Amino acid sequence: MKRQFTFLTLFVLALSQFSFAQRKGYWQQKVDYKMSVDVDEKTYRYDGNMTLKYTNNSGQSLSKVYFHLYFNAFQPGSMMDYRLAHLPDPSRNMMTNIGTKEKPKLVSRISLLKPEQIGYQKIKSLKYNGVTADFKVDGTILEVALPTPIAAGQEASFDLVWEAQVPEQIRRSGRNSADGVEFSMTQWYPKMAHFDEFGWHLDEYVAREFIAPFGNFDVTIRMQKDYIIGASGILQNPKAVKGYDQTAKVPSTDNKATWHFKAENIHDFAWAADKNFVIDSAKTKGGITIYTIFIPSSKKNKENWTQALGLATEFFDFCADRFGPYPWPNYTIVQGGDGGMEYGTITLVTGNRNIQSLVGVIFHEAAHSWYQHLFGINETVDEWFDEGFTSYVQDLGMHYLFHKRGSVETNPVIDAYRGYYKLALSGKEEPMSLLADYYNTNYAYTNQAYNKGSVLAEQLGYIIGKENLQKTFLKFYDVWKFKHPTPNDFKRVAEEVSGINLKWYFNLFVNTTRKIDYAITNVTDSGITVENKSDFAMPLDILVEYTDGSKELFYIPLREMRGEKPAESYKLYEGVKRTVLEDAFWTNPTYTIPLGKTAAKIWIDPTQRLADVESSDNYYERK
Ligand SMILES: [Zn+2]
Repeated sequence: MKRQFTFLTLFVLALSQFSFAQRKGYWQQKVDYKMSVDVDEKTYRYDGNMTLKYTNNSGQSLSKVYFHLYFNAFQPGSMMDYRLAHLPDPSRNMMTNIGTKEKPKLVSRISLLKPEQIGYQKIKSLKYNGVTADFKVDGTILEVALPTPIAAGQEASFDLVWEAQVPEQIRRSGRNSADGVEFSMTQWYPKMAHFDEFGWHLDEYVAREFIAPFGNFDVTIRMQKDYIIGASGILQNPKAVKGYDQTAKVPSTDNKATWHFKAENIHDFAWAADKNFVIDSAKTKGGITIYTIFIPSSKKNKENWTQALGLATEFFDFCADRFGPYPWPNYTIVQGGDGGMEYGTITLVTGNRNIQSLVGVIFHEAAHSWYQHLFGINETVDEWFDEGFTSYVQDLGMHYLFHKRGSVETNPVIDAYRGYYKLALSGKEEPMSLLADYYNTNYAYTNQAYNKGSVLAEQLGYIIGKENLQKTFLKFYDVWKFKHPTPNDFKRVAEEVSGINLKWYFNLFVNTTRKIDYAITNVTDSGITVENKSDFAMPLDILVEYTDGSKELFYIPLREMRGEKPAESYKLYEGVKRTVLEDAFWTNPTYTIPLGKTAAKIWIDPTQRLADVESSDNYYERK
């Protein structure tokens, strides 16, 4: 019973180490934005000004700061434009055919934008602590040389006056989306770049994924009074604008009204506006108000949005149980953008979809409220942690609400596994540690970030045990909400919860393209031989059904786990004897399980959570 003893010891150690799950000396910068904009709907331009309070908690003085000017990406010759021209598989909706049907010639839509259609954010003045400061702009990054550094622990103020032109709808933000939404206002303000223990994150807007410090937003938007606006945070003056309050009296000057929104502790503020929007809302059991704001383009469309709202409230309750309570008072799902994109307490999604697709995209973006927003993951670096875990939450929710209503029995993310297998065998896979924008194909990016990332989470449950994975998610919430965790922080929580060492798993699955491939290679009355045919060793669950009809589950831990998972509560293991065997180790590719009876059927991991890329040899049946 040596093994038992080892496990208990580790468990006790794990409990005593809980306080270590937080990185020692962890710090994060803070931003507080006060912004007001005045929109000219005819030219799609607006004037903006902001006062930004920036708190430097880094422990070092800063002589430069940087802002993102994302709209500048939507100009011919931008890095985003060039990227589209040279990717083998650019997003179709960002391209257009200037050839013929027979001889197509696809070019980036950005390359064709005229001066009055491009996006830009032009800084008219910039003051640092009240003094005019020098700055320069390269592409989508604004660099400010500070006349005096911001000392460690100090707060600095930045006053920016800028004018912007909202680009034609191409990606995420823009005017006149394919759904007919007039203003999709995302990445719309000069945004303080992220600085953390890894340094400045000065990613050009090439394709995707963001990171920013947390803070409070106070935003006023002045535009024509006939619009309805959905935005991050809480509307402060519902009686003074259209759409939110039946008794509203909309005061106006020059036919304009002013919307005032406040949002606390988020890291990106977005909004959308259209004259044809309608607003619906419902409350979750946990008391969160969910708004849907959309254009009811048909009866069917309206029904879909009504149904989606009900399901969204259930989804938020599901997520609260499984991943920790949603901490903001409301969430707004607004039609806009070019697909689906997550922001603080709001998402913009395209809305002319069938119900399955609409609910899928809403669940995905809402799940980002945890894995992106509440846990401010650096998506530019750890895209799989962000998109993969979000897809995992989404699929668990879909599975819970649609398939079993409560019992997640078999692998709920099996589709993600299938996508990953296809990629793994395609020759296009790259290590998941690659920065988000640098993948050679969108195909590899999408399958790795979304599918392989989701597989990583479910397979982690296979290694540490299903119940331990659930505990890990809730413990991670306690330690890392409103902070910027890395994948290693998640790994550390999982290690502490389970008492299992996971260094090898995260390294091989994230930093390499090695694949898992086990096989049952020999079966006799005295034993089963399994072989690791690849270079990625894993612990094994092997279910045996004997010729007398009885079953036995063999569990073979891996030596570098330095621990073992407890029995798991799967229905297919109910009443099955579980036998824990000696460790396997990766330097020996074969392992023989001793048998006392004749095996009729053998399965390597019947729960299908082991991501074995070639599983046809994982099953044996006696002939
Ligand atoms: Zn996503």
